[in-house]
Amino acid sequence: MENSNQTNQSKKRKKTLNLEGQFMYDLGTCSKSNDLAGALSLYEKAISQNLRLNHNHLNTLLYLCSNSLHDLASKDSAIEKGFGIYERMIANNINPTEATITAVARLAAANGDGDFAFELVKSMGKYKIVPRLRTFDPALFAFCEKLEAEKAYEVEELMVSMGIHLEEPEFAVLLKVSSEVGREDKVYLYLHKVRNCTRCVSLVTGEIIESWFNKGLASEVGVSEWDENGIKDAMLKNGGGWHGQGWLGKGKWVVSKSNINLEGCCCSCGERLVCVDIDRAETEKFAESVASLATKREAKSDFRVFQEWLDNHSGYEAIVDGANVSLYQQNFADGGFSISQLEAVVKDLYDRSGKWPLVIMHNKRVSSLMDNPSNLKILEDWKNQGTLYTTPNGSNDDWYWLYAAVKLKCLLVTNDEMRDHIFELFGSNFFLKWKERHRVRFTFLKNNLRLLMPPSYSLVIQESEKGSWHVPIDGECNDELLRTWLCITRPRLHDYSSEVLKSSHSLVLDRPFSNHMSTMNGSHNNESKALSGKRKSRSPSPSKGHP
Ligand SMILES: [Zn+2]
Repeated sequence: MENSNQTNQSKKRKKTLNLEGQFMYDLGTCSKSNDLAGALSLYEKAISQNLRLNHNHLNTLLYLCSNSLHDLASKDSAIEKGFGIYERMIANNINPTEATITAVARLAAANGDGDFAFELVKSMGKYKIVPRLRTFDPALFAFCEKLEAEKAYEVEELMVSMGIHLEEPEFAVLLKVSSEVGREDKVYLYLHKVRNCTRCVSLVTGEIIESWFNKGLASEVGVSEWDENGIKDAMLKNGGGWHGQGWLGKGKWVVSKSNINLEGCCCSCGERLVCVDIDRAETEKFAESVASLATKREAKSDFRVFQEWLDNHSGYEAIVDGANVSLYQQNFADGGFSISQLEAVVKDLYDRSGKWPLVIMHNKRVSSLMDNPSNLKILEDWKNQGTLYTTPNGSNDDWYWLYAAVKLKCLLVTNDEMRDHIFELFGSNFFLKWKERHRVRFTFLKNNLRLLMPPSYSLVIQESEKGSWHVPIDGECNDELLRTWLCITRPRLHDYSSEVLKSSHSLVLDRPFSNHMSTMNGSHNNESKALSGKRKSRSPSPSKGHP
């Protein structure tokens, strides 16, 4: 009797295990195909069969519910079922995870209940789970949508206190709600926060900014008189591009779409934009980290030899990635290593500055070029005048040109986007800024070289000392001249645009590249001889943490 009982129990257990295995498998299939209805019917069946559901199963179900919210037909039932699943989870003492809270907060927000979404996040400490940016988003976006600005600010406050970094979409909705409820102080604050976290703003953010300045209230904000020297000092202290002292001026704003010309002046109001560069200390730190990574990956002694050589030859103003230039557009039948392209780049750089650049190229490449007698003379000339550095066998020349360009604070001629994971080690925001300021791209159209110099101004929201704003809009731009900027001024400024232009000349802190820009136009002049990414006489360090 007893034996037969045990057999029955074990059969039953086996059957349950099979059912659980089947349930897991089927749920996985539904999850992959985003099939909420299928997953829900599996769930109902599992409940009727008394299967044990763990937090993974329930999270999968919740995720599928939260993922169906955009579909109007299934939205209401997804919310209802999702809440039911969550309640069962809590009732069965299954602790939620961050994924659970995020999914349920999304359901709550879709139900128009920002308060509940926020309560959920605040309850996470109880389960010793740490929220992420995405966990806060539902509450934040729900409050902003319902114009509950104070509650939205409270969410931001908690995020900041927990060390969560808000990004452009979060700041954009905070900016929007502040604009819509007429909190001009907060609009100003969030405009600066957007400025700090991104370079070009998305189209959506651009529209939010535009709509604020078109509002009646915006024309009322600001002071008619201010301490000009105080503003100038603040701008200097900040490294240029913003003062942060509040709205300046009075009257209606004019928002127009504009471009920035070669000299860095706005084509609409004439104001000159400024450069906000990485400071010297940051650059030194960058050079050190490139060197330390390079010595870990390269033969140490070879790289040290190069570092010493560079210390004794530090007069260069431009470094050329030899392989990248000579292999440009050479992927046709007779294509190979084009020394004539390299020659054109070297000559162009020399014509601009009167100084030879440094071409860095792998030994193997140089030897193969030497095989052709007509190349011999050029290569030997370059070697004699210090225009060529050959990296040794087994080296990766990328480390050499990058290190040289950073260390000597030079221009770097390459079309390499440097998207290699190695470069991400330097921090993408920082590296992008460095690249924007130092990298020179090039094209050869019908064998005619065109060097595309870095812009003479920073690609970032700029606030001027007269209170106007310029906002770059995101978008792939091969030519920065074509980028759309919002030009936001007050008519009084328009009238004085030439005055603004004059006075902003004195404010420009550091525009080492503007000369190149004029030479890009072919207008060589004496001034343009100073081709330099080098900052010999640098003004006070731009503040850190800027895009
Ligand atoms: Zn303008």
